[in-house]
Amino acid sequence: MNKIKIIIAGPRGRMGTEAVKLVTTTNHFELAAVLDHKYDGMMLSDVAGFQSISNVPIYTDIEKCVQEVEADVLIDLTTPEVGMYHAKTALEHNVRPVVGTTGFTKENLAELEAICREKELGCIIAPNFAIGAVLMMKFSQLAAKYFHDVEIIEMHHDQKLDAPSGTAVKTAEMISAVRETKKQGHPNEKETLTGARGADYDGMHIHSVRLPGLIAHQQVLFGSDGQTLTIRHDSYNRASFMSGVKVAVETVMKQNNFVYGLENILD
Ligand code: NAP
Repeated sequence: MNKIKIIIAGPRGRMGTEAVKLVTTTNHFELAAVLDHKYDGMMLSDVAGFQSISNVPIYTDIEKCVQEVEADVLIDLTTPEVGMYHAKTALEHNVRPVVGTTGFTKENLAELEAICREKELGCIIAPNFAIGAVLMMKFSQLAAKYFHDVEIIEMHHDQKLDAPSGTAVKTAEMISAVRETKKQGHPNEKETLTGARGADYDGMHIHSVRLPGLIAHQQVLFGSDGQTLTIRHDSYNRASFMSGVKVAVETVMKQNNFVYGLENILD
């Protein structure tokens, strides 16, 4: 079986470091190169923390990287602007993106979907690679058929750049697909402090908590007469996302279309 040749963007990041571990310890994966805005032209083994990883060049420019290195898949774990540029450029060079970077806009997703359609190439974008989080979203969608009042509370570390989290937005989208639009709360409710009721998605409210010490957590609260239901998922470290990244890399190689959300590739 041929190894899947992979480029990782953002290798020094918290997610990127775990992805480097995943790729270099999986028999049928090969780390072909990394993309980093620092250390251009050096080898990954020259960078602190990666001394044991040999023969992996560092590029800053993705164009140059994909021209010089043979690769099947790009794993992007950077920032939304950079990630979008990386994903587009990868597709243009027939490299399949697996994107964990969050904060892509609807327009970004539509643009990538159009390129995939034109090139007939696979691309997977997953705001949450934790399989437990995917199940939380699926269970929430099921519950929303019966409970129409929902509040989503997502809690992340305080270095997170985007709010609400991609997972919270994806959960709201999935709930919206089965729930009729409903403005929740009292019709005359007023915020005496702006933002007290959180963000409004189709009448549902999303609250974003940012605290040091947290990793990635979400609870979806449903309420109806005399009962509540809480569905909760917690990621305690970034390794929790890697089984999903592995499945996504394996799956994207068999695909010729655009997929948004890990739930769409799990049985
Ligand atoms: P992080 O620790 O800040 O890592 C981001 C990395 O990207 C940093 O090492 C940064 O380098 C690097 N970077 C910035 N610009 C770059 C460029 N032009 N080229 C290459 N690398 C560049 O963040 P993180 O916690 O790993 O998260 C990364 C992304 O994944 C975020 O969007 C986050 O929301 C998302 N995330 C997704 C999941 C999921 O399951 N899908 C789970 C957790 C996080 P410097 O440090 O030098 O700036």
